[in-house]
Amino acid sequence: MKKLFESKNITEYAIIPFDEKLIINPRLMPKVEINSIVVFLVPYKCANTPKDKYGISAYARVKDYHGYMKTLFATLIPELTHKFGTDFFGFADHSPVNEKLCAAYGGLGVIGKNSLLINKKYGSYVFVGVCLTALKTENIPMSIKSCINCGKCAVHCPGCAITEHGIKADKCLSGISQKKKITEDEQNAITEAGICWGCDICQNVCPMNEKALYSPIDYFTDTYLDNVSPELIESMDDEEYSKYAFSWRKKEVLLRNMHSADRKNRK
Ligand code: SF4
Ligand code: SF4
Repeated sequence: MKKLFESKNITEYAIIPFDEKLIINPRLMPKVEINSIVVFLVPYKCANTPKDKYGISAYARVKDYHGYMKTLFATLIPELTHKFGTDFFGFADHSPVNEKLCAAYGGLGVIGKNSLLINKKYGSYVFVGVCLTALKTENIPMSIKSCINCGKCAVHCPGCAITEHGIKADKCLSGISQKKKITEDEQNAITEAGICWGCDICQNVCPMNEKALYSPIDYFTDTYLDNVSPELIESMDDEEYSKYAFSWRKKEVLLRNMHSADRKNRK
């Protein structure tokens, strides 16, 4: 399995025994016996830095990882099936199991106070994928570990969303920036925080991310948008626009936030 994943530039993977407690969406469970979960991380951090002044999260400046996972699974699943002689079922994001917990049980990272999985090699700049299979494993799940709890993410969070009891989703400006309809106060809050789409503040200030390595995966490094503008977004045809994570909303949402940032910068 090591060779198989490494041939795809993926070094962070683990196999954990299946446990029903990991199920979050039973309807997506394959209708066959499942004994193990192969969980892996896809790093997306790029060496590029934005030339524009629009606060767009790093994950949204590269092409949407769902496209990457689709292409990956198209080769990975048949290869795993061929090698181990049993079926594998690949999922990413829209998944029957809690992927972050699977990764933590697999020892692929600790859970940060900012709720993100933080991997030793790539930090929290990772996407998680899983393959469910009937293959049996004798591996024992690792105990879930927490970050060093330095508190920097909570101090720097512009929405005061990070608390001792977890993230207050309704205060997270990343989520607010992606809302179709927002109040004037919400618009002011994201614009004041320099946010147009998503927010990387709690991961960028995290000391456990200081040495996070860049992604070795071309799909991300070759597609980084380092100079986003309203004109660029407007010029994208539907097909091009659909390749980016912000396309789960119509262009109006991102453009609304960019125009608000422009108004602030003109003041
Ligand atoms: S993404 Fe931004 S707003 Fe949300 S919790 Fe992290 S720092 Fe706070
Ligand atoms: S900034 Fe500190 S408290 Fe927050 S996730 Fe990182 S290590 Fe944990």
